[in-house]
Amino acid sequence: MAVMYLGRIVEEGTASQVLRQPRHPYTEALVSAVPGAKKRARIVLKGDPPSPEAIPEGCRFHPRCPKVFDICPLKSPTSIGDAGSSRVECHLYDEAGIPLPGKML
Ligand code: SF4
Repeated sequence: MAVMYLGRIVEEGTASQVLRQPRHPYTEALVSAVPGAKKRARIVLKGDPPSPEAIPEGCRFHPRCPKVFDICPLKSPTSIGDAGSSRVECHLYDEAGIPLPGKML
């Protein structure tokens, strides 16, 4: 399963991984909106998706991300994780896809 935001795959993994343990903040919001899904607090994103003709600098999700922090508007995150099995594109994770200490998760 792949999750896209503004034309980029931001998270990828098996359906079970992505739906049970979403890692990217956008995926978390999507999964929280599934009716009847495992009880988790609904995450309502602010604003609307930007125009594809005016993609934000840095992480393209940063204007709407509930976990945005200092580097997000400045630098686009790279794809991290196991090639072909599970990966996420977010500054909250290190090169191995492990959550970084001190970041809000
Ligand atoms: S890189 Fe930053 S703004 Fe983008 S999804 Fe991750 S925490 Fe949110």
